[in-house]
Amino acid sequence: MGCQQRIAVKSISALQEMIRQKGELIFCSSKTSTVFPFEQLDDQYPELATTSLVELSTIPSKMKILADNQVQVQGGVVWEELDQFVQAHGLELLSYPTERLATVLAGVATSATGERSFAFGPLRQQIISLVYLDHRGEKRSLRADRLLVDHPLFKESRQASDLLQKYQQLGNNYQTFKNGPTPRLEQESDLMVGFEGQLGPVVELTLQCRQKSDSIYLYIATSRWEEMVDSHLDLVRTIHPLRGQIISCELLDSNSCKLLPADQRLAKNSDLIFLELDANGWEEVIEHILYCCPWIVEQQVFEISRQQFFSYRAQIPQLVNERNQRLGMIKKGTDVQVRLEQLGSLLDLYRQGSKLNIPYLLFGHLGDCHLHFNLLTTADQVEHANNYLRTFYSQVGQINGAPFAEHGVGMIKQQFLKSFLTKEHRDLFNYLKQQMDPDNRFFPQGFMQLGKEQTVV
Ligand SMILES: Cc1cc2nc3c(=O)[nH]c(=O)nc-3n(C[C@H](O)[C@H](O)[C@H](O)COP(=O)(O)OP(=O)(O)OC[C@H]3O[C@@H](n4cnc5c(N)ncnc54)[C@H](O)[C@@H]3O)c2cc1C
Repeated sequence: MGCQQRIAVKSISALQEMIRQKGELIFCSSKTSTVFPFEQLDDQYPELATTSLVELSTIPSKMKILADNQVQVQGGVVWEELDQFVQAHGLELLSYPTERLATVLAGVATSATGERSFAFGPLRQQIISLVYLDHRGEKRSLRADRLLVDHPLFKESRQASDLLQKYQQLGNNYQTFKNGPTPRLEQESDLMVGFEGQLGPVVELTLQCRQKSDSIYLYIATSRWEEMVDSHLDLVRTIHPLRGQIISCELLDSNSCKLLPADQRLAKNSDLIFLELDANGWEEVIEHILYCCPWIVEQQVFEISRQQFFSYRAQIPQLVNERNQRLGMIKKGTDVQVRLEQLGSLLDLYRQGSKLNIPYLLFGHLGDCHLHFNLLTTADQVEHANNYLRTFYSQVGQINGAPFAEHGVGMIKQQFLKSFLTKEHRDLFNYLKQQMDPDNRFFPQGFMQLGKEQTVV
């Protein structure tokens, strides 16, 4: 049994009305989440039987350019649409997920990141302000330039502000990551970032853009990571100090490339590293890279168009998703980010996964040391893959990696979040739920419910 009802909401006022009635609600938008298997809810999650799935992407799209290169978004606007809209106004988005048919407002709920986060950080860092609906259906605004500790939820309770401080201290280990194991909770707007709709639906967002600037897109063919990672590590070390001039650095391994039709493959048996460079001064940057990484010979560096860059990169995860949906398989993929010093260790863990006798591929945001390893399991390989993943996540904890750097927790990853939670995380989740969703009607099966379980660590 899946969700009891699937409702497409047509306006913000209809959503307000729905919230004022009784009943549990899970919000969804474009349904591209890889941690919430919308196609398989009926078979896999009997616990959702009393909850309605409320689709928000049917709320009419509105986009408005504001002063200071900011843009305001409401309704079911998807990233592709917003990208075209801001470009038509001489602006560009700073970061967005690889899946450009995902909605912008859901990006807040999932704390989205993307290729360009290498230069500009995750979406969270571009939020100026947002509006959400509270448990009474009332609109509430949150700003990124106000500290959460000064919000009435924490300002008016000494106990709550002490708890927030402890929670934030735990997050310090992940300051340099795009997302830690739990939401950041530093600025007021963070109350909606990465909470996956558990504290209310996001209905409006104001986002920082910048003046449009030209980029150059290149790719470099290199050794297969299973055989040798020196070149991958060398390149990442070289480009780290060049963030800004280098806008993104992505990996598609040789197995990823083989998913594409033969006539679209850019290389036969190599890994490919893609770079987006600021067009201003890009020749010097490439010269520097070639000097620091003598294994790259100039003939191995190829220029491609922006369109090719994004479509080539996006096709791989889309093909993996299509394959899983066709076979009715739940994705067995990772979303782990580590510090630069740990990238070699992360690749070692993935090398163990490459020896399971299950087809696999590796791709993702190499510059950010954030890679997605996917096991293409069949039904009889699922348990074997799960055993690997259980060990994998405990090893990620040991090397202080972030287990879910962009796709969130949803339903699928809750089992792996448990060991990253302390009493303070759980107490703060409970406090926020009690204050912001006292009847626990917003996605009650989400990761915040783990607050009610006994502390593991
Ligand atoms: C091929 C592919 C590539 C991807 N690449 C990336 C990537 O590079 N970076 C990245 O971050 N993610 C990526 N994703 C994951 C996904 O696209 C993002 O998580 C995205 O933000 C989900 O948007 P959506 O509109 O599809 O939301 P949905 O999948 O419909 O919902 C996702 C979650 O957000 C909640 N939600 C949705 N809308 C709202 C709202 N308005 N208010 C409150 N809660 C809401 C839902 O309850 C749900 O938990 C990728 C997915 C695919 C399939």
